Amino acid sequence: MRLDLSGERVLAVVAHPDDAELLCAGTLARARADGASIGICVLCRGDKGQPTTPIPNLADVRRQELQAAAQLLGAEAMTGEFSDGELADGQEERRKLIAIYREFRPTLVLAHSPADYHPDHRAAGLLAEAASWFAASGGYLPEHKSLQTQPALWWMDSIEMLGFEPGFFVDIGAHAAIKHQMLHCHKSQLARWADRDFSPLEELMQRQYKARGAQAGVAAAEAFQIHRAWKRTRAW
Ligand SMILES: [Zn+2]
Repeated sequence: MRLDLSGERVLAVVAHPDDAELLCAGTLARARADGASIGICVLCRGDKGQPTTPIPNLADVRRQELQAAAQLLGAEAMTGEFSDGELADGQEERRKLIAIYREFRPTLVLAHSPADYHPDHRAAGLLAEAASWFAASGGYLPEHKSLQTQPALWWMDSIEMLGFEPGFFVDIGAHAAIKHQMLHCHKSQLARWADRDFSPLEELMQRQYKARGAQAGVAAAEAFQIHRAWKRTRAW
């Protein structure tokens, strides 16, 4: 079955600066190769995950790392600038994300699954879902031109695949390398090796795309679920 994302505008909405690499960068790279426009919106600053040797201006460093990774992909990077660990589905957060949707005008949004382990990820998923409705609602924030139609929404896999039942798989065999290249841009995250709450990210990422690939009969894959809600589904 052929998935063709040419002409689409694909926006990944994630909580932290390295989440897109772990969960959807192969699919973004594949969409880019098809001719889609790509955006990565990171809602939190990444200001609380200090490496073993603390960095005083960590949020600035992580913003630069995000920009470098997005550049490798040919993606536009956008930020919500909320604090790590405090993200919630609130009105201020919704307004900011709706403005981002109305600027980028996505036709497809990739969002953290409600099954994900991290409270910021789950909040980012709720916000991405709410904005996918209200961005096309003309009466909401009339100062920004609303979208003509709601974007489709796919839930991304959870970290370590826990509690996530794949709806379908995207073969990323030709695009696994860019996940590694992009992850290597996040040097301040990779420097957290001594943090007891931290897992070796590259190992985790590789284990996951290989396991999802094995489930789908290919070398490497990313898993998603379609958000089955009115106007967020599409026919292929
Ligand atoms: Zn995260």
